[in-house]
Amino acid sequence: MRTDSLLIHGGVDGDKQTGAVNVPIYLTSTFRQAGLGEDFGWEYARTGNPTRCAAEKLVAELEGGVSATAYASGMAAITAVLSLFKQGSRLIVSRDVYGGTFRVLDQIFKPFGITYESYDMTDLSGLAEKLTEEVKAVYIETPSNPLLSVTDIQAVAEIAHAKQKLVIADNTFMTPYLQKPLELGADVVIHSGTKYLSGHSDTVCGFVVVKNEKLGKRLAFIQNATGGVLPPFDSFLTIRGIKTLGVRMDRHVKNATELAAWLAGHPAVKKVYYPGLESDPGYALQRRQARGAGGVVSFELRRKYDARKMFKSIRLITFGESLGGVESLMCHPATMSHASVPREIREAMGITDGLIRLSAGIEDVEDLKEDLERAFRKAKG
Ligand SMILES: *Cc1c(COP(=O)(O)O)cnc(C)c1O
Repeated sequence: MRTDSLLIHGGVDGDKQTGAVNVPIYLTSTFRQAGLGEDFGWEYARTGNPTRCAAEKLVAELEGGVSATAYASGMAAITAVLSLFKQGSRLIVSRDVYGGTFRVLDQIFKPFGITYESYDMTDLSGLAEKLTEEVKAVYIETPSNPLLSVTDIQAVAEIAHAKQKLVIADNTFMTPYLQKPLELGADVVIHSGTKYLSGHSDTVCGFVVVKNEKLGKRLAFIQNATGGVLPPFDSFLTIRGIKTLGVRMDRHVKNATELAAWLAGHPAVKKVYYPGLESDPGYALQRRQARGAGGVVSFELRRKYDARKMFKSIRLITFGESLGGVESLMCHPATMSHASVPREIREAMGITDGLIRLSAGIEDVEDLKEDLERAFRKAKG
């Protein structure tokens, strides 16, 4: 099946027993066993639940992996992946990695002796020399958050694999509909399914997909041993969300592309970050490795405009954390997602007080422009 059909019929298609077109929600913690050592394929719901396994199988197929594990959040998925490493291991991580990933590396894993080094993945010329003996993996996010810089997945994989290092890619911003990191050489794909996969801002979930069976078994072991599993109801919501992923992503990309072009020509805007704009430094690479530039656009206001007033004035667009839902969302990275990064470092990266991240929803784009136009007028100092 091609991706658009897999979204609807991939994984476990419906219910064999009744013919129901949807996978049932199995609200059970345990399963009856026929006798000693004779179960019906299921034992205890932390280890495996049929609704969760259906979601896992679906996401594995979409990413082109051999197996997937589903977690109660994207952060639980990332924690499971980091649990693959032992004390003394080191990771090379994208410089503008998701704030929560930075936090778990810095404040949970570093004290356990698993260290990391940030690296600017837009210039890979110095990557090979960073891959010393203790480095076990390269961890990337592309396009990155919130500056949408693009990393060449294939090139990272070639450099990393030459030294037998794993490549881990957070594919949350793209989804397998737009980009398949495993096909480009990555070994592990991570998702915050909270965003585009489920797509309706109604659940928090995470996935890890791999293409190596042994690694898949190890992750299933970690999932069961540490227990941050995705509950059955949330598994159902995610499967339901994924059915419309294709049509949603098409509209997200269309709206984001139109808004990025409109913002680039607006007098209130100093700079637009969106790899779908021809003027963006990541444009050619993004076109080569993905089917679209995604639904997130970041832009910097000119000095005369006050971001605070802007957030107060938007009506249709919601001011809040997160992204990837059907509704448009706007946030302020400097005081929200990247508040823990010291000001000088933050500003050197480009995350200024005037930077705004917009997750384009699937509303009528003219209404979104009108909402922004009104807010710009109110924000003008
Ligand atoms: C939101 C997000 C996460 C964390 O996922 P949660 O579901 O919020 O735990 C990780 N990576 C990226 C790129 C994200 O956007």
